Formats: sequence, C-alpha cells, structure tokens
Amino acid sequence: MSDVLRIAIQKKGRLSEKSLAIISGCGIKFGSDERVLKERATNFPLEFLYVRDDDIPSYIHDGVADIGIVGRNEFDEQGFALTVLRDLGFSKCRLSIAVPHDFPYLGLKSLEGKRIATSYPNILRGILGEDGVSATLVEVSGSVELTPAVGIADAICDLVSTGATLAMNGLHEVETVYTSTAVMIGRPLTDNRDKEAILQRLLLRIDAVMKAASFKYIMFNLPTDRVEAVSALIGGLKSPTVTPLLEAGWVSVQTVVAEDRFWDVFEQLKDLGAQGILVTPIEKMTE
Ligand code: ATP
Ligand code: ZN
Repeated sequence: MSDVLRIAIQKKGRLSEKSLAIISGCGIKFGSDERVLKERATNFPLEFLYVRDDDIPSYIHDGVADIGIVGRNEFDEQGFALTVLRDLGFSKCRLSIAVPHDFPYLGLKSLEGKRIATSYPNILRGILGEDGVSATLVEVSGSVELTPAVGIADAICDLVSTGATLAMNGLHEVETVYTSTAVMIGRPLTDNRDKEAILQRLLLRIDAVMKAASFKYIMFNLPTDRVEAVSALIGGLKSPTVTPLLEAGWVSVQTVVAEDRFWDVFEQLKDLGAQGILVTPIEKMTE
C-alpha cells in the first residue's frame, strides 16, 4: 500500500518551527521550503500541508488532513470532535482576564453584567458559566487590548505572554483562566488501517523524542564508598552504570536524570563528592 498520512502544520507563526523540529527529531526528512504549501517526506509516508493554524481543526474534521499540530486554545475554541493524540508541551501561553486600572476586580464575579472582549468566546463562556457569571461577550478577532479604551468593552480576555501590550493600553492582568500548549490532534482512522499503522509509528517516535527531551545523560567520577548514596539519590531509575577507574577508590558513574530534578540532583552529587560532572542531552530514548 502506498497510503500516506497527512499532517497539517502552521505555515508561518509561533507553532511552525517547533512543530517541524519535533517531526525532524523523529528522523523524518523533508525539504521545509517555506514557499511550498504541500510536501512529502522523503523517508516516511507522511505528507505535510502548511496552512493557517485556525484552519487546522476543520481541515482534519473534513478529512483534508489526518492529523495536525495546533494550540489547545484554538482546538478548544473551535470545538470539533477530534482526539488529542499528544500534548507536545511547547508554545505555552495563557488566556487571562485584564481590566483597566480603575476597574475594581475581586474575581470572576466582578465581571457580572459587564462587556468582555475576546477572541475566545466559547472558552470564556464555559469558564464564566462554571462560576455562574453572566456577561456580554464582544467577539473580536484581533487588537483585543484596544477595546476598553475605545469604549466597546469593560474588560478583556486574551492570550498574554509578557503583559507589555496590556500595560501600553492601560490594562493589567488580574486572573489567568486557561492555559494552553501545542497539541497533536487527529480524527479516528479506524476506516484506514494503513494510515492508522503509520500514525502509530509516528507516535512511537514522538514519544521517544519527547521522553529524551525530558532527561539528561550525566557522567561523573565518585569515591567508591559513595555509590550507594548516589544510587539512592537517583532512585526511581534503573541502577546507574558503575565502572572502576584506574585510581583506587574511585569509580565512574553514568546515568540519566529527569530534567526537572536535574539541578537538585546536581547539587547533591557535588555534596556527595562527585567530580568532573559531565551532562549531555539525549537524542532519543525508549523504555
Ligand atoms: P496564522 O497566520 O497561522 O493564523 P496566528 O497569528 O493566528 O497565525 P500565532 O500568533 O502564530 O497565530 O499563534 C499560534 C498559536 O501559538 C496560538 O494559537 C497559541 O496557541 C500560541 N501562542 C500564542 N501566543 C503565544 C505566546 N506569546 N507564546 C507562545 N505561544 C503562543
Ligand atoms: Zn491563526
């Protein structure tokens, strides 16, 4: 069979580079010439469609693409019945409520009866609904921060990264109501076993790339009598590899450490007398 899996990727924007990086980390080769709208990987049955991020959920829903990478915000807002296959963790951002400085904000309840401008009315309606708050949502597709100053909204709900744009418009962030990361989404491929098999191969590789990114490989020299203490510290993982050094009473230790524990482990290793600590990234990693 010569079936290919079609993946929709944002053509140009905040998601593009990292989406492509994760695919190429899977050993999949493609030209990624920005001028093309569609291309085929050279060593894997995968075809790329480069589109606007807003169009990704509907393309998948309509069968134009099989899977895609999009911000969870966009996916939740559009509400298509698709599956989140993986949370890819990058392009983290938050959807926050921001108000003018003279707005007395004491929580979502303060928004009762107010006009709130947003590009995410469905997500916001859900959040306000959970707290029983009813407000008038003013849907705008861009420049949300301008709306209070021009008198069409009392508050806004928008994606925030640094808050600098808010400050320039006399607003300040008062509450984060939703957080988003990039997700890989897809529709059920039960009608096509070849595509489903390709998808499973791709997901296996993505898992290995993501797992590798969350660990570091470390090597260091250690007095032999500290090996047990170090083993206990590293815990949770399989026993480290321990090799004797020529110098009596010393060993070389190799192991992997989770990224989020790295500095903690590093400091404790130093306290335990580890020397010559060498840290390297891991390219791929499986169970
Ligand atoms: P397009 O032209 O494809 O429609 P766009 O302008 O709608 O692009 P981008 O600004 O590239 O989209 O944002 C794409 C996604 O990146 C957003 O939906 C969100 O998930 C995420 N994102 C938004 N702002 C940030 C940010 N400050 N930092 C990281 N990720 C962000
Ligand atoms: Zn967009």
